[in-house]
Amino acid sequence: MKDKIVLITGSGRGIGKAIALRFGQLGAKVIVNDINPDTAEAASTEIKKAGGEAINIVADVSNKLAVQTMHYEIIEKFGRVDVLINNAGVEPTGSILTMDEWAWDRTLNVNLKGAFLCSQTVGRAMKEQGGGVIVNISSIAGRAAGLRDRAAYVASKTGLVGFTRECAREFAAYNIRVNAVCPGVIITEMTSHLRQNETQMKKWMEDIPQARLGEPDDVTGLVIFLCSDESKYITGQAFNVDGGKVMS
Ligand code: NAP
Repeated sequence: MKDKIVLITGSGRGIGKAIALRFGQLGAKVIVNDINPDTAEAASTEIKKAGGEAINIVADVSNKLAVQTMHYEIIEKFGRVDVLINNAGVEPTGSILTMDEWAWDRTLNVNLKGAFLCSQTVGRAMKEQGGGVIVNISSIAGRAAGLRDRAAYVASKTGLVGFTRECAREFAAYNIRVNAVCPGVIITEMTSHLRQNETQMKKWMEDIPQARLGEPDDVTGLVIFLCSDESKYITGQAFNVDGGKVMS
């Protein structure tokens, strides 16, 4: 990963931040994107304090102009993007019968359209530069039924697995590989409110053979592998990182 230019969306905290820190440790030049300026800056400062190289760019990945402006800034500074991790995500809860249209749109716009906009914008440049790697952070919710009150989230993450397949098919001609990583329940802000629910926790533990929730660091190894030449014949695939969670 030494000197690779790596853009990780939504990497101010959680899984994205863990991925950004790992790339920083491996010598990559890391672009921390987030919609939150405070966490974006704090994450890039942490990478630099650990001896890595990083900049932070605040942008809403669901906004085409913002994505293109972010990309322009990266090209101005580094001249290319070698790796794109589409990680930014939101997970509102609510039943289909009461869900607000805004919540549906926001979820699909950030989780799915955001990955499309970033892949399109960065993909055009990767095509010109002769190749690259994209990893989409989907979810086990995108691969199996069984996530109550999260229809928009499940739809977005299922869509992201499909988008990964089609993006890989189209981009293969340009030496760009595209894969999806599908985490199980990982300990981050996104799951903090769920982890306070004892009944929910008990149910999860029964379903996870390794009998623990994941840490953000549990996801990084697979992401690094998929971005390295060790996986050069792998594209269009989705891989679970979930402690062996039983699909129900
Ligand atoms: P998280 O802690 O909530 O972090 C998500 C980050 O994305 C936050 O910093 C958030 O900013 C940022 N973000 C939200 N909307 C954005 C936008 N429009 N543009 C740019 N950044 C934006 O979540 P996480 O648990 O680390 O999740 C990371 C990814 O993994 C998500 O795609 C999620 O769906 C997926 N995932 C998570 C789990 C899990 O159990 N945690 C499981 C499966 C998949 P704010 O601070 O403003 O919210």
